[in-house]
Amino acid sequence: MHLLNQITTLSNQMMIYKQSSDLLLNEEKGDPEQKIQEAIELSDKFIKFDKSNEELTTIVNKHIKEIASIRPGRKLLKSLSKFDKTIEVKKKREFEFQVNSIVDIFTNKPLPTVYEIGVTADEYLEYIGMDSEKNEHLLKRPAWVGFGHELVHAWEAFALEELSEEQEEKETILFSMHNGSEQHTVTGFRQRIFTDKDRLDPMRVLCENTFLLYAHLPPRTRYYNDPLSTEKAKFASTVKPLSKEMYYVWLEQRVYTAHLTQLPINKVRDKLYVSRQYLFNYIVQCPIAVNFLAEEWKENREFILDLVQWPHINILPHVPKWCADKQFMLEAIRRNRDAKEHLSQNLKEDENFMKTADRLSLLKN
Ligand SMILES: [Zn+2]
Repeated sequence: MHLLNQITTLSNQMMIYKQSSDLLLNEEKGDPEQKIQEAIELSDKFIKFDKSNEELTTIVNKHIKEIASIRPGRKLLKSLSKFDKTIEVKKKREFEFQVNSIVDIFTNKPLPTVYEIGVTADEYLEYIGMDSEKNEHLLKRPAWVGFGHELVHAWEAFALEELSEEQEEKETILFSMHNGSEQHTVTGFRQRIFTDKDRLDPMRVLCENTFLLYAHLPPRTRYYNDPLSTEKAKFASTVKPLSKEMYYVWLEQRVYTAHLTQLPINKVRDKLYVSRQYLFNYIVQCPIAVNFLAEEWKENREFILDLVQWPHINILPHVPKWCADKQFMLEAIRRNRDAKEHLSQNLKEDENFMKTADRLSLLKN
């Protein structure tokens, strides 16, 4: 039952994630000038840069103003200011976040750690975002969102102590998210931020996608742009964004997929390695797993019929072959009359069959 415990933990984490994220995204809009000004002044205490450099000053001030103009942004600036640490912003070849911890070679004592953000003069940065139809596009987001991304890295560096590689491996890393830190910075989901305390704290899930969703831009779905690089980037504002709710569904599916493929017991998909009862329990607990069922399991008549009995699993759309099988579907309807909705077109047009099916579903009433 070890795996089932993990799945329960995971769905708990997803629930906390969604509730915390809602706290950020459902906030009333309306941004009083005074609050924006206060947040900008606050950022001046911990964001340092060479103010004699006119270009850099213009870039940084512009990004900070944008971030301070939205409530999640002000939350991030406020939280960062409480750590009593400094972030140095420099002009670099690309946007990046770096932690420089060094030791004095003569005394062997650690020197103060330097947290550094690199920015460019670009007004827009490319990324892969998802539209309302769940299509991914190469898009251009305003550069302040990229600056916000680097600030989330800083928050993570301040709030969470360094992770060893071994610990990192134990985390669920989503497809195309590079590592735990990028995943957290882009999606706000990182298992270790839920492990120590199980309480709602919007800061734990505040991420680049909070900014994108808040600004009604398509959320980022990949860390790397490469897979779609032949497409010409268009402005994010020209694409209808995936809704917050659909974004949660997308994230949840990614989390479970990653979990199923990364666990040592990733054999859930493979009938050779997992017992029927075990897989059955798994799916009852975690219905989303039907998306990853191995073909051999889909061929297994009795197994599928057992799943049909559970309305919350909705297995039939995944097994069109069985939906066209008369004997199978009669048995399926006997067990769960809603199965009738999934009959193949041919069976629906078969009058004799439909009479029998109707009689069976009436019996259940
Ligand atoms: Zn990053």
